Amino acid sequence: MSAKTKKINAYVSGFGASQRIVLWDTALKGLKRDEILFVMGHEMGHYVLGHMWKYLAVVSLGAFAAFWACAQLAGALVRRFGTQWGVEGVSDLAAMPALFLSLTIVTLVTMPAMNALSCRVEHESDIYALELTHDNDAGARSFLQLATDNRSDPEPPTWVRVLLYDHPPLGERIRFALEYRPWEKGEPNQLYKPKAPNLAVN
Ligand SMILES: [Zn+2]
Repeated sequence: MSAKTKKINAYVSGFGASQRIVLWDTALKGLKRDEILFVMGHEMGHYVLGHMWKYLAVVSLGAFAAFWACAQLAGALVRRFGTQWGVEGVSDLAAMPALFLSLTIVTLVTMPAMNALSCRVEHESDIYALELTHDNDAGARSFLQLATDNRSDPEPPTWVRVLLYDHPPLGERIRFALEYRPWEKGEPNQLYKPKAPNLAVN
């Protein structure tokens, strides 16, 4: 990826046997060793917590609801303005703009919900990585590096965040990475449940 972009990225992709963690070479070059380990912990969190499956289920069910809403909206538009527009019904080819308008409106309305869901699983993965590594400092540094290299606004206005952010803003992630350390108070982990004793050193 370094031939195409300077951005740093890592993600989980594929299903079943094709499932893998993808770590861009820009991340290997731009992040320190402990930061790469933290990022891997985050991606492992997505894998272990089954986020892809949950996401796929929600999106599949949500698509039914969204297309139903689209059909209702387009139908209502054609009933209300059809004569004026010279459109006979939703199946009329001339009704395409009304269909696209409905799709745009439904997408705009569902976007914040999809973003909220995505932000939630991203936050879960951050928790997982912190509980796995106990390396708050490396976590915060990796987010700082991401914010710098990807030129993303760490403190966006609320409406920008609600409409466009599918990850929590990096300012929030950095603060959380620095503060979250339940193990120091002897509290149990929320998400990382080691089968063997936790080998984290600090
Ligand atoms: Zn993630």
